[in-house]
Amino acid sequence: MSFTTLAQYAADLAAKKCSSVEIVQDCLTKINSANKSLNAFITITEEQALNAAKQADQQRAQGNAGPLSGIPIAHKDIFCTQGVKTTCGSKMLDNFIAPYDAQVVSLCNEAGLINVGKTNMDEFAMGSSNETSFYGPCKNPWNLECVPGGSSGGSAAVVAAGLVPASTGTDTGGSIRQPAAFCGLVGMKPTYGRISRWGMIAFASSLDQAGPLTHTAEDAALLLEVMSGFDNKDSTSINQPVPKYSQQLTTSLQGLKIGLPKEYFNNQLDPQMSVLLEEALTVFKKLGAQTKEISLPNTGLAAPAYYVIAPAECSSNLARFDGVRFGHRCGNPTSLDDLYKRSRSEGFGEEVKRRIMVGTYALSSGYYDAYYLKAQKIRQLIRQDFLAAFNEVDIIFAPTAPTPAFRFGEKSQDPIAMYLSDVFTIPVNLAGLPALSMPVGFINHPSPLRGEVGRGVQLPIGGQLIGRDFSEAQLLNAAHQYQLQTDWHLKTPEARTA
Ligand code: GLN
Repeated sequence: MSFTTLAQYAADLAAKKCSSVEIVQDCLTKINSANKSLNAFITITEEQALNAAKQADQQRAQGNAGPLSGIPIAHKDIFCTQGVKTTCGSKMLDNFIAPYDAQVVSLCNEAGLINVGKTNMDEFAMGSSNETSFYGPCKNPWNLECVPGGSSGGSAAVVAAGLVPASTGTDTGGSIRQPAAFCGLVGMKPTYGRISRWGMIAFASSLDQAGPLTHTAEDAALLLEVMSGFDNKDSTSINQPVPKYSQQLTTSLQGLKIGLPKEYFNNQLDPQMSVLLEEALTVFKKLGAQTKEISLPNTGLAAPAYYVIAPAECSSNLARFDGVRFGHRCGNPTSLDDLYKRSRSEGFGEEVKRRIMVGTYALSSGYYDAYYLKAQKIRQLIRQDFLAAFNEVDIIFAPTAPTPAFRFGEKSQDPIAMYLSDVFTIPVNLAGLPALSMPVGFINHPSPLRGEVGRGVQLPIGGQLIGRDFSEAQLLNAAHQYQLQTDWHLKTPEARTA
């Protein structure tokens, strides 16, 4: 299995080595064969994609195509796409066709990127393994018995399998970075407000942020500059110019101060992972960076606070799916109450119901101060921890997830175990900061996988770079400098998906 990056496709198209129709056709062929085993796409937009590719070729022939014009991309099925089904991984929206494009989709379309399909995801982005999807779980291309991570698991799998060069995802508590780590990719969650949330189906509005999944930091920069920007349709969008991230990848790391939070590098971290993270730091040091131990003392409170705030916001956001305004409607309702109850009971899966129940409880009178308000206060403490750390260091390096990709069923019966797979990503969302995950090596799966005994199954591991507000350019540059020295990002899964 091999892959082509956005940058390479752009160069090939500019040099007229191939046409957009050829690229899109090639991707569609791979998608149609691999999707049977990966289950990574909920919808494949073959016809629209080929038509768009023809148009892109015409525009290029006329000399008015942008650099990324005619290159395929896949969108997480949380982004509304005009005329194309948008399910959010839920039976609730199984027949929902959005009447408009999400801002992220419009911006990608304007750049000429070609949407080849909508990717599988945990239902309403609630999950860390893709197992809560109504459409069945997407599989990890590195090992089909392992989860691709979640909730943007489909978006990670399609890039890791080389089906498309890049995809979009969303990250509320880790849903871009954790699947990127599990699938050996670069995944970035930008600063809250950097990318418009317009048309992105809301899970927890104060935490949700879109971002790119790619093989390289350079590609992440190329896609981020397309996706970013102020949008007056989103009241939390921030009006700051978008840097040309892809042209800011040549800064030396000499003197860069990297903070290592002791709460993340504790003795619970897998020793094989510690070795890889150490090796990554050695590379940064060779490039001139210095490391310093720091403390983020409230880290342990992040997951508990998140699992109050995110369900609280989701219970409010998901009220609109009632079978009247939006969503699945039950058959033959006997009353309005019956219509609401049965439509919602039938339309939502177990995890979504659990969150709505928890969130409704946390927001109810008498409990609001004890849970929601308390969690908001913790959120401030967590942000202050980071701001204090950034007085001492320029960026922070940490593991992305506590383990490599786990097996299907390993955590799905234990919500708390599942929630804890995001302990290292959640604090960043609570603080609103930008962070990316990049591949830093491979380790053997902790226990043998069926059919794989003795073959030394290798699974990718991610390292996380966290920065100050709006420091995306700095994070991408650091990751790019690292990738110039290493080749983890060039490895591809064996052709197990053919
Ligand atoms: N896994 C976390 C959750 O289930 C984060 C999900 C996300 O970032 N969308 O809430």
